[in-house]
Amino acid sequence: MSELNNDNKRVRIEIKDWLFNAGILGLYRILKNAEKEVLYKDNYIECDAAGFEGFEKSFFDYFSNVYGKDGLWHRLTEFCKADPALDNIAEPNAEKIKDFIKGFDKDLGMASYCSAYEIITGDKDFIKNKLKVIKDKATPDPEKLEKMKEIYSFFVANKNIIEAKYVSYTVINNYWEGVSFLNKQQVKLNMFDVYKRDFVEPVFSYLNAEQKKVPFGNCLICNRVLNKKADGAEGLSWLKMDLDSARKTSVYWNHQPDIIVCPVCNLVYSCVPAGFVTLRRKGLFINDNSGMEKLIRINNAAEERVKDIEKMEALEELTYYHIINLVREMREANIKREVDNIQVIKFDKEKDAYTFNLLSKQVISVIENSKKELDALVKLYDVFLDSKNKINLYAEVIERIYRNMDLYPLVGLLLGLAMRKKKKNGFADLVFKINMNFIGGQMSEKKIQVMKQMGMKLKKGYKDEQNKIPGIAYRLLNNLKTKNINGFMDVAINCHMHIGQEVPTLLVECIDNVERFQAYGYAFLLGFTGEEYNPEAKKENPKVD
Ligand SMILES: [Zn+2]
Repeated sequence: MSELNNDNKRVRIEIKDWLFNAGILGLYRILKNAEKEVLYKDNYIECDAAGFEGFEKSFFDYFSNVYGKDGLWHRLTEFCKADPALDNIAEPNAEKIKDFIKGFDKDLGMASYCSAYEIITGDKDFIKNKLKVIKDKATPDPEKLEKMKEIYSFFVANKNIIEAKYVSYTVINNYWEGVSFLNKQQVKLNMFDVYKRDFVEPVFSYLNAEQKKVPFGNCLICNRVLNKKADGAEGLSWLKMDLDSARKTSVYWNHQPDIIVCPVCNLVYSCVPAGFVTLRRKGLFINDNSGMEKLIRINNAAEERVKDIEKMEALEELTYYHIINLVREMREANIKREVDNIQVIKFDKEKDAYTFNLLSKQVISVIENSKKELDALVKLYDVFLDSKNKINLYAEVIERIYRNMDLYPLVGLLLGLAMRKKKKNGFADLVFKINMNFIGGQMSEKKIQVMKQMGMKLKKGYKDEQNKIPGIAYRLLNNLKTKNINGFMDVAINCHMHIGQEVPTLLVECIDNVERFQAYGYAFLLGFTGEEYNPEAKKENPKVD
């Protein structure tokens, strides 16, 4: 239970579940970014209540600082600042005017920005009218430049509101909906005032109130005593909580919609968007319930790098590099660490839902041991299944490992593709190797190698009947895919007899064991259909598509 020390108004907030933890981390980051006093220890953060003075500014400042770079404000001011022509009306630059229109016309007229102009000037067309003059062919160039300068000065003078609008609709609204400054009825109000009214002031009035003898109840999250119903906000329905289909087991689902939350927790929840790292409508938060330091450290590298990461896939890549590095680092420093309960929570705006993966010790070690193979996969973004459909091989592999599913279906898919397109099976082999790490000590690596060699040997036996190889490969693959041991054996035995080779004894070991059959069978087929993937031997990766 969190105790509020009323003497010096310290506020302590303890780790709970993943969504609340994302809020705590967000709050911590916001306070740090604002250079306010905040400390973490064990399983909580603590700060002075005075740190919430002006928190509405700290809140938006954080998002501007981390995410503002791609926003219109940043791009426009950089564009204007960089050009001396803007300060030299006597030498109009037609090219520059054209670039300005091309670069900013659309964005300057976006509804969210228009509502920002309206907050500032009371006129949503304030910028549109200036743009009109710039775009009008009849306007002389010096006047166009004059208008550009006016827009530039306007932007410089109103950074707060313009950037707050930008982050509200690119970052914050991924995690919240319908309340405060994101409520449709309130978009024309100053978001700093609205956030202050809705989230910050209730904290002050709550902290300043005397506790009644007969309290109304307790906060369902932190157990703080509530004097009256109005102490608690209206519930948590404003936070997006949808988890992907299979996992709607969150505590919130049972308590919605009348969950009572104290103003402090409500403020914490408002910081959830700062606890996630957001990149192009996708968010990432790694939850670790074992302590505040780990929670901060494990998430911070992602936050630090979000400014220079371009590709969406890199977010995924980052997840594992990051966790593995931390685990390694802690291992080297001999910090005993339970890694069982690391949760990777991703938000995807397209699905409008969170996906939730548990990282077990086993998963982490698979990823760690497969670093070389995964590095090779990261470089290959999409594999075309046919002319329309494609998959991201790396993401598929990671996803299956997270979900504790073996990779045989992927190996089979890649082998089938390679056969159909008469290409090398290098990536199938690569995924097979990751799969062997996944299966761990269950299979003897030596025997797997022997099976591959047996496959190669059989292929050599067919050197005078090469046209038969694809048909045999298909039949072996189909039997593997359907886990038909007898069917596979029939094909393998017939082939060996046909060319007068002895049937490998290891094949016989498969008869009563499906796992062994999959491992040995695929190894055999990989040997039969191709050569091993060897990144050192070739400069270029073999292409699957
Ligand atoms: Zn609470």
